[in-house]
Amino acid sequence: MMNLFTATNIARCKLSGKKRYRDRKEAKRVVILARRNKLYAEQAGVPTHRNENRTYRCHACGGWHVTSKPAKPT
Ligand SMILES: [Zn+2]
Repeated sequence: MMNLFTATNIARCKLSGKKRYRDRKEAKRVVILARRNKLYAEQAGVPTHRNENRTYRCHACGGWHVTSKPAKPT
């Protein structure tokens, strides 16, 4: 099982500058971690800007990213 925090070669997207994940599963795991961290921070009364809640496939790099923005209506 891969550990996200010891991965040394995380690619970044040239278009968005975001971290690029191989697949949806990996991106989803980041969202779950971010949500949990946010919950802990709120319970501790610590402000946080982490608000990633959605994964999407990037057409520019072909990878997956996480975002806090709502899905665009298409
Ligand atoms: Zn991208």
